[in-house]
Amino acid sequence: MFCDQCGKPAAEGEHARCADRRTLEPPRFCVDCARRMVVQVTPTGWTARCSRHGELASSSRTPRRRTTVREFQEMARELPPIDVEQWRRDREADDAIFGDDRLDH
Ligand SMILES: [Zn+2]
Ligand SMILES: [Zn+2]
Repeated sequence: MFCDQCGKPAAEGEHARCADRRTLEPPRFCVDCARRMVVQVTPTGWTARCSRHGELASSSRTPRRRTTVREFQEMARELPPIDVEQWRRDREADDAIFGDDRLDH
């Protein structure tokens, strides 16, 4: 068992800083063999691949990082453009239910 942040045996030494870093960073080393993993950061998390032990992906174990501006822009590019007509219809439907808040009650 190795530390996924510094690649040293997990049972040896201090890994407090590694634990801190783990909440922000994807793993760099395979915990089974301490090989350096191929890490890819995606808009929703990361994947890390050991040539021997296969791929890991970020999961609920890892707290969600704050999205960077660049990641946000990448996500936005993948979203379909907003349908303005649909948005207006939705808003009008809300007004019909909740009333127009500009009216005096
Ligand atoms: Zn460590
Ligand atoms: Zn491995």
